[in-house]
Amino acid sequence: MRVLVVEDETRLAATLKDMLEMDGYTVDVRHDGESGLDEALSGIYDVCVLDVMLPKLDGFAVLRRLREAKSGLPVLLLTARSEVTDRVRGLDSGADYYLTKPFEPKELLACLRALTRRQPELRETGVMEYGDLKLEKNGFVLRCGERNLRLSKKEYDLMELFMLNRDVVLTKENILLKIWGYESGDENSVEVYISFLRRKLSHLRSGVRIRTIRMAGYCLEKGPEGE
Ligand code: CA
Repeated sequence: MRVLVVEDETRLAATLKDMLEMDGYTVDVRHDGESGLDEALSGIYDVCVLDVMLPKLDGFAVLRRLREAKSGLPVLLLTARSEVTDRVRGLDSGADYYLTKPFEPKELLACLRALTRRQPELRETGVMEYGDLKLEKNGFVLRCGERNLRLSKKEYDLMELFMLNRDVVLTKENILLKIWGYESGDENSVEVYISFLRRKLSHLRSGVRIRTIRMAGYCLEKGPEGE
């Protein structure tokens, strides 16, 4: 698994490189946005850790150009605590996830695992699995054993988002931006669609639950009867 780290703070970049290498990743580091973008477009990486404040080209510009070039490279955006609104811009321009500095190494590794594990599965087969569930992109079908249901487009997108981010808590803001985009929708829509999905999970008699985490958001979990 090959990671590209784009971070101009050389000490942090070196720490990240050591940490990721100890976890078994192959790591390349770039210290500015321009060379970071060149590298990211090479197609050889499985995931990119991208700082926001960078010389030459900032993280948002790098991300935007990546997506304009139709690159599906999963990106984990690093933002400073003072850049809270920047998180929003980051998600809007196509980041897969963001982490606020300073972060726990464990947190970063969990995000990278979540980002790298599921995307190839979906790209190659169009099917994702979690617990007793199978989610099929073709026809937006959700299966549990012998039972299955067709989801609406929004329900599918939401379920896919949960499955892609299985180890992390998704905030309402995060969900809203990923599914509805920056301009449309409100947090009520998120609640409504979460309740639709919960009803369908219960109809399928799946052990998988969408758990509400107070003041934080939602995450997918396998119930007692799940695997
Ligand atoms: Ca920086």
